[in-house]
Amino acid sequence: MTGDDTPRPLSDIERDVIARLRSVPFPGRDELRAQLPFATVESRCGCGCATVNLAVDRAAAPATLSSGAPVSADISDDEFYAGIVLLVDGEGYLCSLEVYSIGDEPVRRLPTVEQINACPQG
Ligand SMILES: [Zn+2]
Repeated sequence: MTGDDTPRPLSDIERDVIARLRSVPFPGRDELRAQLPFATVESRCGCGCATVNLAVDRAAAPATLSSGAPVSADISDDEFYAGIVLLVDGEGYLCSLEVYSIGDEPVRRLPTVEQINACPQG
C-alpha cells in the first residue's frame, strides 16, 4: 500500500464530519463526543475511498448505544452519490467513519459539512 499515513490524528475535515453527524440527537452521542480526543485514525480503507478505521484509547469511557451504527447521513450534492455512517464496536467505542458510494465509483474524499444531511438510525 502506498502513501499510507496512518496511524495519525483525525484530520480537520474528519472532525467536522463527525461533528456534523453528532448534530442530530441519538443515544450515546455525548459519550462519543468525549471519545474524540482519544481517537486516532488507525488505517484507511484499502479500496481508495475516504473511509477510515478509528481506534479509541481505552482511557475514554465507552458509549451506551442501541446500535452499532448510531447515526448516518445522506450526502446530497451533484458531485456525490453517497452516504456516511459512524460505526461503533461492540464495546461502545468509535471504530469507523464509513463513506459508502451508491454509484459505481468509490468516494475518494469526504464531503463538506454543508453537503451532509445527518439523521439518527433506528
Ligand atoms: Zn473503501
